[in-house]
Amino acid sequence: MSDSPPSTARKETVERHARDAFSLMQRYDVPPTPRNYTIWFDYAAGWNPDLTNAVNEILSLAQRLSETDTNTLYERFFSGDEQERLVVNVGARLTASLSAAAKDLEAAGETNSAYSDKLQDFSGDLVESASNGDNDALNASLIRILTETKEVARQNKALQHRLEASADEVHELRSELEQMRREAQTDGLTGLANRRLFDLRLREEAGTAQETDKPMCLVLSDIDHFKVFNDTYGHRTGDEVLRIVSRVIRDCVKGRDLAARYGGEEFAIVLPGATVEGGASVAEDIRARLASKRLINRTTGDSFGTVTLSLGVAGYRAGEPLEELVDRADDALYRAKREGRNRVETERGGDKAGIGLVG
Ligand code: GH3
Ligand code: MG
Ligand code: MG
Repeated sequence: MSDSPPSTARKETVERHARDAFSLMQRYDVPPTPRNYTIWFDYAAGWNPDLTNAVNEILSLAQRLSETDTNTLYERFFSGDEQERLVVNVGARLTASLSAAAKDLEAAGETNSAYSDKLQDFSGDLVESASNGDNDALNASLIRILTETKEVARQNKALQHRLEASADEVHELRSELEQMRREAQTDGLTGLANRRLFDLRLREEAGTAQETDKPMCLVLSDIDHFKVFNDTYGHRTGDEVLRIVSRVIRDCVKGRDLAARYGGEEFAIVLPGATVEGGASVAEDIRARLASKRLINRTTGDSFGTVTLSLGVAGYRAGEPLEELVDRADDALYRAKREGRNRVETERGGDKAGIGLVG
């Protein structure tokens, strides 16, 4: 959404979208919180087709947006803006702190060069007084030098304190920026990389694979029958399962591998240097480890049974658009679903189907 003041025509459109957003929220029995309003306004305005599709998809399945859906949508489509605003704010504080330090240094340079000019004058006075044998003038010159030196020392000490404070502030702001960068790339629920970092790293690793002529592999996975699990045990327990699945995935990857939460209950793993066979073996490890766990309610001791994952594996073909790699992994994943779930499928070999001219 843009925050600039709207023109009259635009104001009317914006008001219409706002009214539509409120009636949609009423229709779907959604409380008019700022987050909900942000999502429904954008949906009513149709400004972001990805958001519109995502909302339509949820509505077609569930006829409403749950709080989890809202949070996931907000995180996916809007929280990046918030993060960017925070980064800009810290950036501005960093710039202010550095320019204050630069000014202090400039002022110190001026003070010290004025002092050095004065010392030149004093040395002339001293030589003159000494050669005239004028002790009173000599004493007066020495006292002036002493006073001036003390003043410069005082100013330099004050400057040193200010520079030390600036250095501390810059150090603090740098760690704040680093922390924000990490948060902007981390999924809040599971602690895995988020979609943003996944996209970034997939692009980087594809570039490296192409340059070094090494393989790279992508695993996409999706929890089986998770809707039923949520409906049976509730979303909070469902969230706990997402954390457990994430831990299993994290335990099975290493080094430069990147495990990410790709969507609501979908996970992606980028495996630099791995062939499809290598990727399939990591995927099988994850599948088997998760399937062997029986989930227990720690408070009541009741069993939630097992939760399983279906996984699809595809290998990067140098130079191809990344969407094609993702599509092949996705096709393999959906084959795993069709063929019974709780299984790993790899991409089918051969070229894409296409239309050619014959004769
Ligand atoms: P399938 O085996 O075909 O994947 O079936 P499914 O039920 O897992 O698939 P479907 O796409 O119908 O449902 C996905 C469910 O995942 C619906 C949604 O409520 C749940 N989900 C998505 N994100 C979250 C989340 O952050 N927390 C919780 N608890 N549930 C989530
Ligand atoms: Mg899914
Ligand atoms: Mg699923």
